[in-house]
Amino acid sequence: MIKEDKDQDVAVHQSNVTDPIGDTDQLLSQEIPPGVDRRRFLMRSAVIGAATVMTGRVVSARERTLKAFAESLEPPQQSPAPPLDKNLNVVKKGQGPVMTVIDEFYKVGPGPSSSHTIGPMRITYDFYQRAAKLPADKLSKATKLQVNLFGSLSATGKGHGTERAALAGLVGKEPATVDPLFLDSLRDKPDQTFDVKLGAKTITVSLKDVIYDATKGDFHHPNTMTVKLLGGNEVLLEQEYYSVGGGFIEWKGYTPPKKNPPKYPFRTMKELRAHADNNKTTIAKIMLANEMSIAGRSEEEVYAFVDKIINAMTATVKSGLSMSEDDVLPGPIKLHSKAATVYKRAMDDKLAADRGVGLLSACALAASEENARGHLVITAPTGGSAGVMPSLVYALTEGRKLPLEKIRDGMLAAAAIGYLCKHHATLSAAEGGCQAEIGVASAMAAALIATANDAESRVVENAAESALEHHLGMTCDPVAGYVQVPCVERCAFGAVKAWTAYEIASNEIASRHRIDLDATIQALAETAKDMNSKYKETSEAGLALSVTLC
Ligand code: SF4
Repeated sequence: MIKEDKDQDVAVHQSNVTDPIGDTDQLLSQEIPPGVDRRRFLMRSAVIGAATVMTGRVVSARERTLKAFAESLEPPQQSPAPPLDKNLNVVKKGQGPVMTVIDEFYKVGPGPSSSHTIGPMRITYDFYQRAAKLPADKLSKATKLQVNLFGSLSATGKGHGTERAALAGLVGKEPATVDPLFLDSLRDKPDQTFDVKLGAKTITVSLKDVIYDATKGDFHHPNTMTVKLLGGNEVLLEQEYYSVGGGFIEWKGYTPPKKNPPKYPFRTMKELRAHADNNKTTIAKIMLANEMSIAGRSEEEVYAFVDKIINAMTATVKSGLSMSEDDVLPGPIKLHSKAATVYKRAMDDKLAADRGVGLLSACALAASEENARGHLVITAPTGGSAGVMPSLVYALTEGRKLPLEKIRDGMLAAAAIGYLCKHHATLSAAEGGCQAEIGVASAMAAALIATANDAESRVVENAAESALEHHLGMTCDPVAGYVQVPCVERCAFGAVKAWTAYEIASNEIASRHRIDLDATIQALAETAKDMNSKYKETSEAGLALSVTLC
């Protein structure tokens, strides 16, 4: 009800006459009619009041209230999103329908960073394979293999063990199958040498062949590296590569592999959701159909891969929880593992809600600590964020005991969110800070929970949107260049935020959710572009500077 109050009108009028801007409260109609958005109503009321003062016209509080009420009921004008810079790399990549498939996206490999360990290992393994195919006369001249790391790979590579990952690829090891103990042995005995067979030629390599080169320069991507095969001073083969985030790699002159068209082409979440709604099905089923059509796989083959990833995620949580409470993570921070302690103590929490948050956090800590140890993790979407999705998978399978089919669907819907973020923004902390890693992981996890709980497509989108929105602007400033502080705990927060996002999305009126996921992904891209490079995995600012290690 809007109150009629003539006395109040008079008082307000007098107040305006004596000092119209002395008491700004008088410019606001404080009585907010029911059913009206409070913020919008107050803003309209303030604008009308200010206009009154500026024009010298006398408008009563009641008039202002009625006018503000009427204007508050008008449909809100969506302010057009600012256009993206056409030179932005993410814009160029964002053309055409989403073509990523699941085995490109969820990758198993050694931590602690998909862009600094899995990517470089894939790169040097790729080079090793190219070099092995060179003609015998060329190979006979070969004397040396050399890797040069640039940009963020050089700035923070030491803390990530990039040189060990790069060497492992050179000696023919692949991320999904490398024994983490091999990488540990490189750390413990850095002077080891290895023989690499290239045709009839054998070349000896060691960590000395991986060079930390310029951290700043005009690079095509912040994670740039070159690999060379030399014969004395002659370059027999050289390739410039980019580790573009999430373990994805590209190289100079890269053209994406040819794929089949998707059954349901989509560029945006709006289009994806329209496919689901128009076909009276779920986002997960649309994604399944696309996986089958793009990659030419059967349903069984797609699900077999998804199951492998679910099992790997569960295993990484279990492995992390099984570590000693006294374990110390590698590196100069001397960070004590805490997953097992948090898990054990959370189990004793009397209140179920406290227990839930504690256990979920412990699972995220467990998988993230595995990443920090350089053990096998799953990019979802990256190594640094590798604690988020596994904690939810573990909670929904081992905790909630949801059927496998629900988790499979959740994994496909989560992948859709990750694909969209990759398509229109970035998954690389070196390009976009931590919002691109933990933020995307949290959005994916929110979609996983919503889908596994049979939420409608709008709720899935809203949950993902909400989780991503509340990570926007989050910077990457790992202490001492190690993916430990803030990364390990940040995974726990990403997991809990994902659950919060699902709780809000599943309990609000879905159609009233005002921000769509596409707009938030665009904001992610814009924020990534504007973010100071000191906060993009360079350890040049933030926590990396304010924490002193003794
Ligand atoms: S701060 Fe975030 S983005 Fe940076 S290394 Fe840690 S987890 Fe990755």
